[in-house]
Amino acid sequence: ILKDYVSGFPKESDMVVTVDENLKLKVADDSKDILVKNLYLSCDPYMRLLMTSRSLEIFTPYTLGTPITGFGVGKVIDSRNPEFKEGDLVWGTTGWEEYSLLKSSEGLFKIHHTDIPLSYYTGILGMPGLTAYGGFYEVCAPKKGEYVFVSAASGAVGQLVGQFAKLMGCYVVGSAGTQDKVELLKNKFGFDDAFNYKEEPDLNAALKRYFPKGIDIYFENVGGKMLDAVILNMRVYGRIAACGMISQYNRDQPEGVHNLMSIVYKRIRIEGFSVFDYYPQYSKFLDFILPYIREGKVKYVEDIVKGLENGPAALIGLFSGRNVGKQVVVIAPQ
Ligand code: NDP
Repeated sequence: ILKDYVSGFPKESDMVVTVDENLKLKVADDSKDILVKNLYLSCDPYMRLLMTSRSLEIFTPYTLGTPITGFGVGKVIDSRNPEFKEGDLVWGTTGWEEYSLLKSSEGLFKIHHTDIPLSYYTGILGMPGLTAYGGFYEVCAPKKGEYVFVSAASGAVGQLVGQFAKLMGCYVVGSAGTQDKVELLKNKFGFDDAFNYKEEPDLNAALKRYFPKGIDIYFENVGGKMLDAVILNMRVYGRIAACGMISQYNRDQPEGVHNLMSIVYKRIRIEGFSVFDYYPQYSKFLDFILPYIREGKVKYVEDIVKGLENGPAALIGLFSGRNVGKQVVVIAPQ
């Protein structure tokens, strides 16, 4: 439960975990209610944007005093919705609580493939996977041999974008915030190269070192100083997929970006997108990704913590880079 709206970097003490002995969750007979037992919860950067009192375009703030919401995987316990029945496994938006009474099935997907770890439906087979897929293949419109740069590259989305770029035959470099993550990018995910942005005093010089011929595609996850440096290093007709800007989420005032004229000089296309744009393509995405996972050709790294009581620390850890891979909270193992 979020105690109060957050300004600046979120703290564990901004949230509280409570037990309500009197709470009786029950599906109403004349409803389409679905009662779900939550198994895995997903920590996602956008959740910080809901901790702010002001509405931000597509985001409505959390309601104080009630459990926060996010993506999760659960099992249907009871249902008055004809599309979902007891025992179904589902993923979609749920509450950060042991059981959730879902009033709508909008954005709730039934899980059919259970030979893959269920937690993957918070990541590679869920919202972040679809984000990487739509953002890379559609927004970036990649071509074989192009030079691709991915920031926050070891995260839930970035690790996939890098692997998709390799599948496409691109040259791909990622940035991350520790040496261990850099090794992971190169040795596990097959990035051609990677660097620790925290150890680069001059990001422009670093990018020139890794991309002497410039960048065709930038998959933008962080914003701020990195975006400014990337713009200077784009090639003519380069594309930037603006997926997110995590470096800005704890700021009341966004950081300035100064090199915008290079967008004109280099005819760069910058395109923002939302994962919801790609929801209609979810089954096509599954057909694409499942064989790669089963054959071990696309890898996925998760960072799993146990227990709802450890959820707040896991969630705020995204903003210091504590997570290595997709941050998941296990509520109840299957
Ligand atoms: P993760 O939660 O997996 O990883 C977040 C990572 O971001 C951290 O581990 C950290 O890694 C890095 N980070 C945190 N703070 C900063 C900072 N100030 N500067 C640079 N890097 C930072 O992220 P996701 O993969 O889930 O999300 C990546 C981006 O995609 C986010 O911006 C998110 O908002 C966006 N997104 C957008 C969607 C859309 O529909 N457009 C859908 C889903 C995600 P490190 O150690 O490398 O610093």
